[in-house]
Amino acid sequence: MIKNIAFVAHDARKVELTDWVRRNAALLRGNELFCTGTTGRLIEACLTEILGSESPRVNRLLSGPLGGDAQIGAMIAEGKIDMLIFFCDNLIVQGHQSDIQGLVRLASLYNIPFATNASTADFLFNSTLFKDPYYIHQLPRCIERYRTRRLESDPQ
Ligand code: PGA
Repeated sequence: MIKNIAFVAHDARKVELTDWVRRNAALLRGNELFCTGTTGRLIEACLTEILGSESPRVNRLLSGPLGGDAQIGAMIAEGKIDMLIFFCDNLIVQGHQSDIQGLVRLASLYNIPFATNASTADFLFNSTLFKDPYYIHQLPRCIERYRTRRLESDPQ
């Protein structure tokens, strides 16, 4: 089941993300959100305006450039995030580019559904799996193989 959703938007795409959140606010009822700092502040304001007391809980992590993307990446690795909506700026290189690459890598590695644009986010949220209480997220087999791999240096 999709419960915890992470949201990140770079400055050039924050309006695009808040517009998207406004259009899809009703679908977020019952979820819990984890956001980089500024993105979270903007999303929380939108959702409170639209949903009032039915607004989902918005947990604000550090701002992206100060480690927020890395925090979300760590949460994905710990199995605490079910979906990622990441509106990244594709026109400039950010100071925290390595954290951004790390976040995308972990979302891919851990088989997290993730969108980097509004169209893909629309498809994710309108999938029948989105509110399916029986949907079970599968970890790729390579993760288990990596966890249990044996090295030459292991004791025989
Ligand atoms: P912000 O961080 O939500 O705090 O602006 C986003 C980012 O730049 O990764």
